[in-house]
Amino acid sequence: MSDKTSEVIKLAIDLISRPSVTPEDAGCQQVMKERLGKLGCINETMVFEDTTNLWSRREGNASSIDKSAPVFCFAGHTDVVPAGNLELWHTPPFTPTIIDGMLYGRGAADMKGSLAAMIVATERFVSDYPKYYGAITYLITSDEEGPFINGTTRVIDTLEARNEKITYCIVGEPSSTNTIGDVIKNGRRGSISADVNIKGKQGHVAYPDHVRNPIHLAMPALTELSQFHWDHGNDYFPATSFQLSNINSGTGATNVVPGNLTALFNLRYSTELTDQIIVEQVESLLNKHELDYDIKWTFNGKPFITELGNDDGDFLTAVSQAVTSVTGFKPELSTSGGTSDGRFIAPTGAKVIELGPCNTTIHQVNESVACKDLDKLMDIYYACLYQVLVTDDV
Ligand SMILES: [Zn+2]
Repeated sequence: MSDKTSEVIKLAIDLISRPSVTPEDAGCQQVMKERLGKLGCINETMVFEDTTNLWSRREGNASSIDKSAPVFCFAGHTDVVPAGNLELWHTPPFTPTIIDGMLYGRGAADMKGSLAAMIVATERFVSDYPKYYGAITYLITSDEEGPFINGTTRVIDTLEARNEKITYCIVGEPSSTNTIGDVIKNGRRGSISADVNIKGKQGHVAYPDHVRNPIHLAMPALTELSQFHWDHGNDYFPATSFQLSNINSGTGATNVVPGNLTALFNLRYSTELTDQIIVEQVESLLNKHELDYDIKWTFNGKPFITELGNDDGDFLTAVSQAVTSVTGFKPELSTSGGTSDGRFIAPTGAKVIELGPCNTTIHQVNESVACKDLDKLMDIYYACLYQVLVTDDV
């Protein structure tokens, strides 16, 4: 590592070199805890089953805690997706390597680079402003890429049970598209999946009176579902989309009518709909087609939105200004992309946004991030802390 390697990159390298494939943490949170502990943060490790979580908190003014003061949270995950085909990696995935200003390694962009930027930004901020208005917290999990059962959602349950609230939250997910800070995700669509089993009666194709062909029965209903117009979306969300992802039926023989058909589908939905409306609509359509079926729903996450407020003190405006102060341009707001742990934090009333590095290589082989982007991200996070927590009252 050269002397010119920045603090952020050094820390990112340390984290990436720990092979924390979900739900492993591989000591990443220990590194973070040590750094945060030195700043006076109170660290709480919460282990649920196979998942390690960290809740860390530092008061801006421990001698007089103002319950109405903002609680700022950096949220993220130390786990990474598996490396995939090692032969396709130009450098070993857990041996972080810098080539031409790019840092390569699994988790470089999603999201150990962000974690490093958060920690260094917090260190600098606390050194510059040891007293500030409110609290800085960290909510870190080792199960964001996995089944997300024992991660953020369990920590949130614990905090809710003791009435500990987050006011503002930045999730360090890689939100940027082309250059660092060009996109802030200020919400996410909801996601709901279904596994439907449509029942028929198996038999010989030559005896149509003795069979009920589930493929014939299902096709009109599935066609109608796939063409159904759910909504127009709204100012923040594109129109809700329905996608069939699997259809299975048949025995492989041409002379056998199968006994059943199974289909999997998913909807990514806007705040114009609720999961309850979707369930009712789908089931009433299936009933209209007089199908004999079982359906199993999976509720992956409700949609959330952090709207732009009218006043200057508004969180989204503050973050947007923080980005502009570093990059010189105004970030675009977006709710596109998959779900994130923000969906577990937003329902508590917290204002949640996602802001992190470029997502071009995430979950791919040769995942990478520009070193200068991580340094800029640190400056952006610092500016966010300043915007939210520094007032004249401290
Ligand atoms: Zn991620």
